[in-house]
Amino acid sequence: MSKHQGAPMPDSLRHWMRAKQHPARSVNCPHCGAIARRPCTTPSKRRQLELPHPQRVSAWAQTTACCPDCQVEPTTPCHDEGRARTTVHARRYQEAEEVAA
Ligand SMILES: [Zn+2]
Ligand SMILES: [Zn+2]
Repeated sequence: MSKHQGAPMPDSLRHWMRAKQHPARSVNCPHCGAIARRPCTTPSKRRQLELPHPQRVSAWAQTTACCPDCQVEPTTPCHDEGRARTTVHARRYQEAEEVAA
């Protein structure tokens, strides 16, 4: 049983999550403050994490791709009918993967 905070991610992302160098590393992590190209760390910064935080993957998708769901441009956050979201729509992850591939 593992409990991750944040939105669930589509299956297609799982292979990235296992990859050593996740493309989300190209952006800063808003969760732990890791800078671009550095791995995420635990809050104490004592340990490096193999996987980027979900918030970072979301930030990366936001920077990289436009959203097919809410039709925003890259770097613009997703929204639900004008209400800001903290993470991007699931389809935007897929869009970002295609851009990164
Ligand atoms: Zn992080
Ligand atoms: Zn969206």
